[in-house]
Amino acid sequence: MTTANLLDFDLDGLAAFCERLGEKRFRAVQLFRWIHQRGQSRFDEMSDLAKTLRAKLQTTAHIAALPVVSMQASADGTIKWLFDVGEGNAVESVFIPESDRGTLCVSSQAGCAVGCRFCSTGHQGFSRNLTTGEIVAQLWYAEHFLRQRFNTDERVISNVVMMGMGEPLQNYGALIPALKVMLDDHGYGLSRRRVTVSTSGVVPMIERLSNDCPVALAVSLHAPTDSLRDGLVPLNRKYPLAELMAACIEYLPKAPRDFLTFEYCMLAGVNDQPEHATQLIELLQTHKRRGLNSKINLIPFNPFPESGLRCADRSTVTAFADRLVAAGFVTTVRKTRGDDIDAACGQLAGDVRDRTQAQTRMRALREQPIAFKPREVTP
Ligand code: SF4
Repeated sequence: MTTANLLDFDLDGLAAFCERLGEKRFRAVQLFRWIHQRGQSRFDEMSDLAKTLRAKLQTTAHIAALPVVSMQASADGTIKWLFDVGEGNAVESVFIPESDRGTLCVSSQAGCAVGCRFCSTGHQGFSRNLTTGEIVAQLWYAEHFLRQRFNTDERVISNVVMMGMGEPLQNYGALIPALKVMLDDHGYGLSRRRVTVSTSGVVPMIERLSNDCPVALAVSLHAPTDSLRDGLVPLNRKYPLAELMAACIEYLPKAPRDFLTFEYCMLAGVNDQPEHATQLIELLQTHKRRGLNSKINLIPFNPFPESGLRCADRSTVTAFADRLVAAGFVTTVRKTRGDDIDAACGQLAGDVRDRTQAQTRMRALREQPIAFKPREVTP
C-alpha cells in the first residue's frame, strides 16, 4: 500500500491528512513540530502523540528522507550535499555559514530547462520537477544534521535561498507548500525576509508569488538589454525586460523589504564593460522612477569548461561596482564560497537524466556570438 510522505505537506495539508484519519488539527501541529523542529522520523518516538494516532501513522504515512550520495566540506566551512532523487537523478544543496547567519541553498528541480549560458545546471538539461517533499527534505536533513554536528538544539539554518538547481517558479505547485513549511512557526519559523526565491524571470509566476507567498525575491538579470539578455538567459525571449521589470514593480509592495535584488553574473568581455554599467544604471533608474528600488549583487562567474566563458577580472568587477555605487545603487560583490568543492554560484551540477537535449542546444548556443549592441535601453 502506498503511504503518504509527510514531508509533502505544509501544516494545512497535514491537518487535512490528520482529519482524514479522524484526528483534530492540534494533533497535526504536534506531528508537524516533531518532524520539522525535532527532526524525528520515527512515529514510535513521538512520545506525546496518542498511541492510537501513532498506530494509524505506522500504516498510512512515512517520512521520506533523501538518500545522501555524498557530502563535501570546504576549507571555508561551506558544506555541499548530493541527494539521490531516483532514476539516475541527484540534486545538490549547499550550506554557507557566516558570522551572523547560516544559509542553505536549496534545489527545486533535477536539472533546469531554462538553460542559462553561464550556468552549469543549465548545461545539464532538465529531468523533472522535485516534489514538495524533496524540496523540504533538503532543509530537514541539513538542519538536523548540522544541529548534531555543532552539538546544539538551536536553529542552525537561519536563511534559505531557492538558488540551487532549477528555476523555482517553473515548479510553482511544489514550491509554495515548501515555502510555507519554511515560514511556519511550527516548522522552521524563518521570516519572509530570510527566505529568498531566485528567478530568471518567469513573469506570470512572479505575480502569483506576490499573492500566495511573498517572500524575498532575487531576479537573475545578468544583462541590461534584451539583445544581450536573450543570449544569456533564453527565457528573456519569452518574457523580455520590460515585462520582467513591470512584474518587479508590482511585486515590490508585497515584498518583505522595500527593494528587490538583481543578480548580475560578471562575464569577461560579455556584460562587464563600462557601457554595460551605464545601460544597467539607465535601466534601473528608469524603473526607480516608477517605484522600483533595487539592490545589485555582482557575482564573479565561476568558470566551467563547457561554458566557453571567462570570469571578469577583479579590477573590472570593482570598476563596474563603483559605477553603480556612484549612481546611487546599493551594490555588493558576492564572496565566492566553497569553490574548492564546486559549491559556488552557478557550479551546482548533480546528476541529471536530461530529457531536453541540452548538450545539443548548448553547443549551438556556444557557436552563436553573444550580441553586443551599444546603448539599447528598455523604456
Ligand atoms: S541560472 Fe537558474 S534558471 Fe538559469 S539555467 Fe541555472 S538553474 Fe536554471
